Parts: sequence; C-alpha cells; structure tokens
Amino acid sequence: MPELSIVLLSSLQSLLQGWGFPKYRAKQVLDWRNKGVLDPQAMLNVPQEIRAALVAHFGEPPLRLVQRQCASDGTRKYLFALREGGTIETVMIPERKRITVCLSSQLGCILDCPFCYTGRQNFEKNLTGAAIVAQLWMVKADVMVDPLINSTATTPTHLVYMGMGEPLANESGLHQSLAFFLDETGMHLSRRRITVSTSGLLPQITRLGEMFPVNLAISLHSAKNDLRNTLVPINKKYPLTKLRKILDSYPLAEQRYITLEYVMLAGINDQPEDLLALVGYVRKLRERINLIHFNPYPNSGYTATPIKMMDAFASDLVSQGVRATVRRSRGDDIMAACGQLNAHAMRQ
Ligand code: SAH
Ligand code: SF4
Repeated sequence: MPELSIVLLSSLQSLLQGWGFPKYRAKQVLDWRNKGVLDPQAMLNVPQEIRAALVAHFGEPPLRLVQRQCASDGTRKYLFALREGGTIETVMIPERKRITVCLSSQLGCILDCPFCYTGRQNFEKNLTGAAIVAQLWMVKADVMVDPLINSTATTPTHLVYMGMGEPLANESGLHQSLAFFLDETGMHLSRRRITVSTSGLLPQITRLGEMFPVNLAISLHSAKNDLRNTLVPINKKYPLTKLRKILDSYPLAEQRYITLEYVMLAGINDQPEDLLALVGYVRKLRERINLIHFNPYPNSGYTATPIKMMDAFASDLVSQGVRATVRRSRGDDIMAACGQLNAHAMRQ
C-alpha cells in the first residue's frame, strides 16, 4: 500500500504529474510532511483537488496519537494506535544538544528475554516501514508544537531502534524505514546518527552491514554462554562464538564503536567472574560496553544491581582498558525506560 509518510520526492512528483498536476506541488506536500503533518486535508496551501487525490490514494496515516506522557526529566512517551489495530509506544529523549527518538519496530516480541517487559507481551505483528517512519513525523510535530526547554535541538537528531520489538526480526520494515531515513530526499540522516539494537540475529546483522551500515548495538547481557542462553534465549541458536565472528566483520563508521548493552541484574550477571568473561569477550578497539540500569516492573523476578556497584563494575572495566559507560535511566517515572514498553500496560 502506498504511504505518504515514506514516499520519496521523485515518486510523489511522478504521481502528481500522472494525475495532471504540476510537479512543484510535490515539494509543497513534503514541506508539510517535514513539519510532521501527514493528513493532506491539513496542507493549507495545497489546492483542494490535490488534497482529495492524495487522501484517495494514500488513505489514513498509519498512526494516530492516543496519549502522551511527559516525565520530569523531559522525556516524552507516546502511545499510538496503528491504523490496522493495536497500539505501540515511542519515546522521545531530550538532551542538551540532541533529541533522540526511540522507535518501535514490532507489536510485542517473539524472543522472550525473561527480564524484558516487551518480551512478556505476545507477539502480534511487524510494523510497516511507513509506520516506523510515521513515529518520527509524529514526534517531530509534537516537538514543534510544544518545544523543549532543556535542549537547544528543535527537531529529532538521532534515532535508535530500541523501542518495542526486535528490529532485525522485522527486516522488511526495518530496511524500508532505514532506506527512507538515509535517503537524501527522505530524511537525509547520517548513518552515524542511527542505531539499531538487536539481541543478535546473525544473518540479519550481516545483511544490515552490507545494505545500511548504521551503528550497531548488541544486547549482550552476559559473556558466559550458559547464562546468555537464559537471559537472551536466541543465544541458543546464535551463540557467543558465532556472534563474535559477525561482530568482527561489521563495517564501522570512523570513530564509531559497536555498543554491547549489558543490563545489570543483581546476583545474576554482576559478579567478578562475569566481569572477567566480559573483558575476555570484548574487542577493546572496536566495541564499548554500555551498562544499563535494570528497570524493574511488577513481578519481573529480577532486581537491579545497585548504582554504586554498577559504577564499580564500570571502573573495573575501564581500568582494564575497556570503554564502558553507565546508562542513566530516562523517563522511568512514566515507564518509558528500556524494556518497560508494553502497550497493554498503559490501559490496565
Ligand atoms: N529487541 C532489541 C531492541 C529493543 S530492547 C534488543 O533486544 O536489543 C532495547 C534494550 O533494552 C535492549 O538492550 C534490552 O535488552 C534492554 N532491556 C530490556 N528489558 C529491560 C529492562 N527491564 N531494563 C533495562 N533494560 C532492558
Ligand atoms: Fe525482544 Fe529485545 Fe525484549 Fe529480548 S530484549 S524480548 S529481543 S525486545
């Protein structure tokens, strides 16, 4: 189905010309979209007959805003209804000079990592490329209407595929959206500003590197194979040794690293032997570790490693020559933090 949220300038120009309208109108339409307006009826300087033709051709936008929540640190979480049914969440994280949008790629997730809230939800469907891109337009529109006070950025600058779902299990939606984000007549974002996070689907990582070599984040969570089998069950299919080979050949942009995400679970993966295994696994020149504070949710069965211990873990890594950072939790007063996204929970 053709979608206005993801159509490129040249296709829209041919479409309009084919309908007997002047080519320059396409630019006008995309100027509106660039402000986050996806409904042709709201494109005021576009003649009514073109708007009507666009509505007839493209139909309803893929997403509708249902709810917006703002956290005390400026993070905003959006609940969107998909045109085809179901709801997803998107998070906007402001920082001093940047605005990061955390995109969802699936409704639910099939992979069942036991500490992840999204994994607890039944897998329902993949998002289309148009629905992934529309999340960005919707956030853009919101930031324009209600600007941020603590950021000099006025529009999203960075994208991370770290919302609901496993992006590499939805390759067609992921690839369509990346093609658009990178295209110079699409969003024209640099590959250095886009990060795809995956639990480690190996053939898909290789294809990503060949087709769209954006930044890569791997949900490692343990460098011990047995433990990773439990924490990230896809490890049974794609174990650490195989992951190693694929990571070593992933194409990196200059001055960029692969991020190994490591959610710290008290008494589970935060012990000296875990540190040892991690130091043995990481490639110091190409990879860095991002220690993530576990975001608890009711009946998760896990507890977070205390912040002080996380800091000590990070300094031990650093003292052994490993790049390591501790990720502050953002938006946790509205359950917008990593692994807390679960569209059903908001309606309970
Ligand atoms: N499916 C992808 C991307 C979405 S999850 C992946 O697994 O990488 C984004 C990150 O949040 C992953 O590193 C995930 O392991 C982590 N995460 C999941 N549940 C979490 C929780 N409760 N607390 C903190 N991080 C969590
Ligand atoms: Fe899916 Fe990622 Fe959650 Fe694992 S951590 S269940 S792969 S969303």
